Amino acid sequence: MTTVAFIGLGNMGGPMAANLAKAGFNVRAFDLSRDTLEAARSHGCEVAASASDAATDADFIISMLPAGQHVRGLFVEGDAPLFDVIKQGALVIDSSTIDADTARSVAAAGAEKGIGFIDAPVSGGVGGAQAGTLTFIVGGSAEQFEQARPLLDVMGKNIFHAGDHGAGQVAKACNNMLLSILMAGTCEAINMGVKNGLDPAVLSDIMKQSSGGNWALNVYNPYPGVMENAPASKGYQGGFLVDLMVKDLGLAMDVSQQSASPVPMGSAARALFTQHKANGNGRFDFSSLMQFYQDKEGR
Ligand code: NAD
Repeated sequence: MTTVAFIGLGNMGGPMAANLAKAGFNVRAFDLSRDTLEAARSHGCEVAASASDAATDADFIISMLPAGQHVRGLFVEGDAPLFDVIKQGALVIDSSTIDADTARSVAAAGAEKGIGFIDAPVSGGVGGAQAGTLTFIVGGSAEQFEQARPLLDVMGKNIFHAGDHGAGQVAKACNNMLLSILMAGTCEAINMGVKNGLDPAVLSDIMKQSSGGNWALNVYNPYPGVMENAPASKGYQGGFLVDLMVKDLGLAMDVSQQSASPVPMGSAARALFTQHKANGNGRFDFSSLMQFYQDKEGR
Protein backbone atom coordinates (compact mmCIF):
# COMPACT_ATOMS: atom_id res chain seq x y z
CA MET A 1 0.00 0.00 0.00
CA THR A 2 1.25 3.49 -0.82
CA THR A 3 2.23 5.41 2.31
CA VAL A 4 1.71 9.16 2.39
CA ALA A 5 3.10 11.38 5.15
CA PHE A 6 0.87 14.44 5.53
CA ILE A 7 2.34 17.40 7.43
CA GLY A 8 0.06 20.34 8.26
CA LEU A 9 -3.59 19.42 8.88
CA GLY A 10 -5.19 22.85 9.18
CA ASN A 11 -8.22 24.21 7.33
CA MET A 12 -6.94 22.81 4.03
CA GLY A 13 -4.63 19.94 4.95
CA GLY A 14 -7.15 18.24 7.25
CA PRO A 15 -9.78 17.53 4.58
CA MET A 16 -7.12 16.79 1.91
CA ALA A 17 -5.58 14.10 4.13
CA ALA A 18 -9.04 12.74 4.93
CA ASN A 19 -9.78 12.30 1.21
CA LEU A 20 -6.53 10.38 0.69
CA ALA A 21 -7.34 8.07 3.62
CA LYS A 22 -10.86 7.55 2.26
CA ALA A 23 -9.36 6.60 -1.13
CA GLY A 24 -7.31 3.83 0.50
CA PHE A 25 -3.89 5.45 0.94
CA ASN A 26 -2.06 4.76 4.18
CA VAL A 27 -1.87 8.32 5.56
CA ARG A 28 0.49 9.19 8.41
CA ALA A 29 -0.47 12.60 9.76
CA PHE A 30 1.54 15.13 11.73
CA ASP A 31 0.77 18.67 12.87
CA LEU A 32 1.97 20.84 15.76
CA SER A 33 -1.65 21.13 16.92
CA ARG A 34 -3.13 18.18 18.84
CA ASP A 35 -6.70 19.10 17.90
CA THR A 36 -6.04 18.77 14.19
CA LEU A 37 -4.38 15.37 14.79
CA GLU A 38 -7.41 14.04 16.64
CA ALA A 39 -9.62 15.19 13.76
CA ALA A 40 -7.27 13.44 11.29
CA ARG A 41 -7.46 10.21 13.34
CA SER A 42 -11.25 10.32 13.22
CA HIS A 43 -10.99 10.56 9.41
CA GLY A 44 -8.91 7.39 9.07
CA CYS A 45 -5.35 8.76 9.27
CA GLU A 46 -2.62 7.25 11.43
CA VAL A 47 -1.22 9.87 13.84
CA ALA A 48 2.59 10.17 13.93
CA ALA A 49 4.58 11.36 16.94
CA SER A 50 6.77 13.66 14.83
CA ALA A 51 7.23 14.83 11.27
CA SER A 52 10.26 12.52 11.00
CA ASP A 53 8.23 9.51 12.12
CA ALA A 54 5.59 10.34 9.53
CA ALA A 55 8.08 10.81 6.68
CA THR A 56 10.46 7.89 7.28
CA ASP A 57 9.87 5.23 4.58
CA ALA A 58 6.92 7.14 3.13
CA ASP A 59 6.47 7.05 -0.65
CA PHE A 60 5.06 10.58 -0.75
CA ILE A 61 5.30 13.48 1.68
CA ILE A 62 2.68 16.20 1.36
CA SER A 63 3.13 19.49 3.21
CA MET A 64 0.37 22.06 3.71
CA LEU A 65 1.98 24.75 5.83
CA PRO A 66 1.45 28.51 6.21
CA ALA A 67 4.54 30.03 4.54
CA GLY A 68 8.01 29.56 3.01
CA GLN A 69 9.91 29.62 6.31
CA HIS A 70 7.84 26.68 7.59
CA VAL A 71 8.56 24.64 4.45
CA ARG A 72 12.30 25.39 4.52
CA GLY A 73 12.35 24.74 8.29
CA LEU A 74 10.68 21.37 7.87
CA PHE A 75 12.73 19.94 5.00
CA VAL A 76 16.11 21.68 5.01
CA GLU A 77 16.84 23.40 8.32
CA GLY A 78 16.38 22.86 12.05
CA ASP A 79 17.24 19.92 14.31
CA ALA A 80 15.63 17.19 12.21
CA PRO A 81 15.35 18.24 8.57
CA LEU A 82 13.12 15.78 6.73
CA PHE A 83 15.51 15.53 3.77
CA ASP A 84 17.74 13.57 6.20
CA VAL A 85 15.13 10.82 6.68
CA ILE A 86 13.05 10.72 3.49
CA LYS A 87 13.96 7.70 1.33
CA GLN A 88 15.53 8.07 -2.12
CA GLY A 89 13.00 8.16 -4.93
CA ALA A 90 10.21 9.47 -2.71
CA LEU A 91 8.39 12.60 -3.83
CA VAL A 92 7.57 15.65 -1.74
CA ILE A 93 4.43 17.51 -2.84
CA ASP A 94 4.39 20.93 -1.21
CA SER A 95 0.89 22.37 -1.53
CA SER A 96 1.53 25.39 0.70
CA THR A 97 1.41 28.79 -0.96
CA ILE A 98 4.98 30.07 -0.66
CA ASP A 99 7.48 32.16 -2.62
CA ALA A 100 8.86 30.67 -5.83
CA ASP A 101 12.50 31.18 -4.74
CA THR A 102 12.01 29.02 -1.64
CA ALA A 103 10.23 26.38 -3.74
CA ARG A 104 13.18 26.30 -6.18
CA SER A 105 15.87 26.22 -3.49
CA VAL A 106 14.15 23.49 -1.44
CA ALA A 107 13.69 21.45 -4.64
CA ALA A 108 17.42 21.83 -5.36
CA ALA A 109 18.32 20.74 -1.80
CA GLY A 110 16.10 17.66 -2.21
CA ALA A 111 17.59 16.81 -5.61
CA GLU A 112 21.08 16.72 -4.05
CA LYS A 113 19.86 13.86 -1.85
CA GLY A 114 17.93 12.03 -4.59
CA ILE A 115 14.56 13.23 -3.29
CA GLY A 116 12.01 14.83 -5.59
CA PHE A 117 10.18 18.02 -4.57
CA ILE A 118 7.43 19.77 -6.50
CA ASP A 119 5.50 22.93 -5.73
CA ALA A 120 1.80 22.15 -6.03
CA PRO A 121 -0.19 25.04 -4.55
CA VAL A 122 -3.96 24.77 -4.69
CA SER A 123 -7.00 26.87 -5.40
CA GLY A 124 -10.60 26.15 -4.44
CA GLY A 125 -10.74 26.93 -0.73
CA VAL A 126 -11.82 24.73 2.17
CA GLY A 127 -14.97 23.69 0.26
CA GLY A 128 -12.82 22.40 -2.60
CA ALA A 129 -10.51 20.60 -0.15
CA GLN A 130 -13.48 18.86 1.48
CA ALA A 131 -15.13 17.92 -1.81
CA GLY A 132 -11.85 16.75 -3.42
CA THR A 133 -12.30 19.28 -6.22
CA LEU A 134 -9.21 21.48 -5.71
CA THR A 135 -7.23 22.93 -8.58
CA PHE A 136 -3.53 21.91 -8.33
CA ILE A 137 -0.92 24.10 -10.04
CA VAL A 138 2.30 22.14 -10.30
CA GLY A 139 5.89 23.28 -10.79
CA GLY A 140 8.38 20.47 -11.42
CA SER A 141 9.55 18.04 -14.08
CA ALA A 142 7.11 16.14 -16.32
CA GLU A 143 8.13 12.86 -14.60
CA GLN A 144 7.45 14.28 -11.14
CA PHE A 145 4.10 15.61 -12.34
CA GLU A 146 3.10 12.11 -13.50
CA GLN A 147 4.41 10.56 -10.27
CA ALA A 148 2.22 12.92 -8.19
CA ARG A 149 -0.86 12.62 -10.37
CA PRO A 150 -2.60 9.63 -8.69
CA LEU A 151 -2.66 11.54 -5.39
CA LEU A 152 -3.59 14.88 -6.92
CA ASP A 153 -6.48 13.21 -8.76
CA VAL A 154 -7.92 12.12 -5.41
CA MET A 155 -7.70 15.58 -3.83
CA GLY A 156 -8.48 17.68 -6.89
CA LYS A 157 -10.42 17.97 -10.09
CA ASN A 158 -8.27 20.26 -12.27
CA ILE A 159 -4.58 19.37 -12.29
CA PHE A 160 -2.23 21.71 -14.18
CA HIS A 161 1.47 21.42 -14.97
CA ALA A 162 2.52 25.10 -14.98
CA GLY A 163 6.19 24.50 -15.79
CA ASP A 164 9.46 23.81 -14.00
CA HIS A 165 10.10 24.22 -10.24
CA GLY A 166 8.61 27.48 -8.92
CA ALA A 167 6.19 27.93 -11.84
CA GLY A 168 3.28 26.63 -9.76
CA GLN A 169 3.93 29.31 -7.13
CA VAL A 170 4.20 32.10 -9.70
CA ALA A 171 0.85 31.04 -11.24
CA LYS A 172 -0.70 30.85 -7.77
CA ALA A 173 0.53 34.38 -6.93
CA CYS A 174 -1.09 35.68 -10.14
CA ASN A 175 -4.35 33.91 -9.28
CA ASN A 176 -4.58 35.11 -5.69
CA MET A 177 -3.75 38.68 -6.63
CA LEU A 178 -6.66 38.52 -9.07
CA LEU A 179 -8.89 36.95 -6.40
CA SER A 180 -8.11 39.76 -3.94
CA ILE A 181 -9.03 42.35 -6.56
CA LEU A 182 -12.29 40.52 -7.34
CA MET A 183 -13.19 40.24 -3.65
CA ALA A 184 -12.49 43.92 -2.99
CA GLY A 185 -14.53 44.93 -6.03
CA THR A 186 -17.41 42.63 -5.04
CA CYS A 187 -17.52 44.08 -1.49
CA GLU A 188 -17.43 47.60 -2.88
CA ALA A 189 -20.28 47.00 -5.33
CA ILE A 190 -22.55 45.18 -2.86
CA ASN A 191 -21.98 47.85 -0.22
CA MET A 192 -22.83 50.63 -2.66
CA GLY A 193 -26.04 48.85 -3.65
CA VAL A 194 -27.10 48.23 -0.04
CA LYS A 195 -26.40 51.87 0.88
CA ASN A 196 -28.78 52.77 -1.92
CA GLY A 197 -31.59 50.57 -0.62
CA LEU A 198 -31.00 47.35 -2.57
CA ASP A 199 -31.38 43.90 -1.05
CA PRO A 200 -27.87 42.31 -1.09
CA ALA A 201 -29.27 38.94 -2.24
CA VAL A 202 -31.24 40.48 -5.10
CA LEU A 203 -28.30 42.63 -6.16
CA SER A 204 -26.00 39.60 -6.02
CA ASP A 205 -28.36 37.58 -8.23
CA ILE A 206 -28.49 40.44 -10.75
CA MET A 207 -24.69 40.81 -10.91
CA LYS A 208 -24.15 37.03 -11.07
CA GLN A 209 -26.23 36.90 -14.24
CA SER A 210 -24.62 40.07 -15.61
CA SER A 211 -21.14 41.03 -16.68
CA GLY A 212 -19.98 41.56 -13.05
CA GLY A 213 -20.22 37.85 -12.24
CA ASN A 214 -17.02 36.44 -10.71
CA TRP A 215 -15.89 33.71 -8.28
CA ALA A 216 -16.11 35.90 -5.15
CA LEU A 217 -19.69 36.82 -6.02
CA ASN A 218 -20.80 33.48 -7.47
CA VAL A 219 -19.61 31.05 -4.80
CA TYR A 220 -18.19 33.09 -1.89
CA ASN A 221 -20.60 35.99 -1.33
CA PRO A 222 -19.06 38.35 1.27
CA TYR A 223 -22.41 39.73 2.53
CA PRO A 224 -23.79 37.85 5.60
CA GLY A 225 -26.90 35.77 4.94
CA VAL A 226 -26.79 35.82 1.15
CA MET A 227 -25.10 32.43 0.77
CA GLU A 228 -25.80 29.93 3.54
CA ASN A 229 -22.48 28.08 3.45
CA ALA A 230 -20.17 31.02 2.77
CA PRO A 231 -17.91 32.19 5.66
CA ALA A 232 -19.83 35.52 5.63
CA SER A 233 -22.87 33.63 6.97
CA LYS A 234 -20.78 32.01 9.73
CA GLY A 235 -19.31 35.13 11.33
CA TYR A 236 -16.41 35.03 8.82
CA GLN A 237 -15.00 31.97 10.64
CA GLY A 238 -12.85 29.36 8.86
CA GLY A 239 -12.26 29.73 5.13
CA PHE A 240 -9.20 31.64 3.93
CA LEU A 241 -7.73 33.94 6.56
CA VAL A 242 -6.98 37.63 5.98
CA ASP A 243 -3.49 36.87 7.35
CA LEU A 244 -2.94 34.37 4.51
CA MET A 245 -4.27 36.72 1.84
CA VAL A 246 -1.93 39.47 3.06
CA LYS A 247 0.92 36.95 2.88
CA ASP A 248 -0.06 35.95 -0.66
CA LEU A 249 -0.27 39.58 -1.78
CA GLY A 250 3.24 40.09 -0.43
CA LEU A 251 4.35 37.15 -2.60
CA ALA A 252 2.60 38.69 -5.61
CA MET A 253 4.36 42.04 -4.99
CA ASP A 254 7.71 40.21 -4.89
CA VAL A 255 6.96 38.56 -8.24
CA SER A 256 5.93 41.91 -9.70
CA GLN A 257 9.06 43.62 -8.43
CA GLN A 258 11.41 40.90 -9.68
CA SER A 259 9.90 41.01 -13.16
CA ALA A 260 9.09 44.76 -13.34
CA SER A 261 5.41 43.92 -13.97
CA PRO A 262 3.10 46.83 -13.16
CA VAL A 263 0.36 45.83 -10.66
CA PRO A 264 -1.56 48.98 -9.64
CA MET A 265 -4.78 47.04 -8.89
CA GLY A 266 -2.88 44.37 -6.95
CA SER A 267 -1.08 47.08 -4.95
CA ALA A 268 -4.40 48.71 -4.07
CA ALA A 269 -5.86 45.37 -2.98
CA ARG A 270 -2.78 44.70 -0.88
CA ALA A 271 -3.16 48.09 0.85
CA LEU A 272 -6.84 47.35 1.59
CA PHE A 273 -6.24 43.88 3.03
CA THR A 274 -3.22 45.09 5.03
CA GLN A 275 -5.32 47.88 6.58
CA HIS A 276 -8.08 45.36 7.32
CA LYS A 277 -5.53 43.11 9.04
CA ALA A 278 -4.15 46.08 11.00
CA ASN A 279 -7.72 46.72 12.19
CA GLY A 280 -7.57 43.35 13.98
CA ASN A 281 -9.16 41.07 11.38
CA GLY A 282 -6.22 38.80 10.50
CA ARG A 283 -7.87 35.62 11.82
CA PHE A 284 -11.16 36.15 9.97
CA ASP A 285 -11.97 34.91 6.48
CA PHE A 286 -10.81 37.26 3.71
CA SER A 287 -14.41 38.02 2.67
CA SER A 288 -14.68 39.95 5.98
CA LEU A 289 -13.20 42.81 3.93
CA MET A 290 -16.93 43.56 3.50
CA GLN A 291 -16.83 45.13 6.97
CA PHE A 292 -14.11 47.51 5.84
CA TYR A 293 -16.72 49.25 3.70
CA GLN A 294 -19.58 49.17 6.20
CA ASP A 295 -20.48 51.52 9.03
CA LYS A 296 -20.54 50.41 12.69
CA GLU A 297 -24.08 49.03 12.32
CA GLY A 298 -22.88 46.72 9.54
CA ARG A 299 -24.62 48.67 6.76
P1 NAD B 1 -3.91 26.70 8.60
O1 NAD B 1 -3.25 27.75 9.42
O2 NAD B 1 -5.35 26.34 8.87
O3 NAD B 1 -3.06 25.32 8.69
C1 NAD B 1 -1.67 25.25 8.74
C2 NAD B 1 -1.31 24.10 9.67
O4 NAD B 1 0.09 23.91 9.64
C3 NAD B 1 -1.70 24.37 11.13
O5 NAD B 1 -2.54 23.32 11.61
C4 NAD B 1 -0.34 24.38 11.86
O6 NAD B 1 -0.42 23.85 13.18
C5 NAD B 1 0.50 23.51 10.96
N1 NAD B 1 1.94 23.72 11.07
C6 NAD B 1 2.64 24.87 11.00
N2 NAD B 1 3.97 24.63 11.08
C7 NAD B 1 4.09 23.27 11.21
C8 NAD B 1 5.20 22.39 11.34
N3 NAD B 1 6.47 22.84 11.35
N4 NAD B 1 4.96 21.06 11.44
C9 NAD B 1 3.70 20.59 11.41
N5 NAD B 1 2.60 21.36 11.29
C10 NAD B 1 2.81 22.69 11.19
O7 NAD B 1 -3.72 27.13 7.08
P2 NAD B 1 -4.55 26.63 5.80
O8 NAD B 1 -5.70 27.52 5.58
O9 NAD B 1 -4.75 25.15 5.88
O10 NAD B 1 -3.47 26.99 4.65
C11 NAD B 1 -2.30 26.22 4.43
C12 NAD B 1 -1.64 26.73 3.17
O11 NAD B 1 -2.56 26.61 2.08
C13 NAD B 1 -1.21 28.20 3.22
O12 NAD B 1 0.00 28.36 2.55
C14 NAD B 1 -2.35 28.91 2.49
O13 NAD B 1 -1.92 30.13 1.91
C15 NAD B 1 -2.73 27.87 1.46
N6 NAD B 1 -4.11 27.94 0.96
C16 NAD B 1 -5.16 28.11 1.81
C17 NAD B 1 -6.47 28.17 1.30
C18 NAD B 1 -7.67 28.36 2.21
O14 NAD B 1 -8.78 28.60 1.68
N7 NAD B 1 -7.53 28.24 3.54
C19 NAD B 1 -6.68 28.04 -0.07
C20 NAD B 1 -5.59 27.83 -0.91
C21 NAD B 1 -4.30 27.78 -0.38
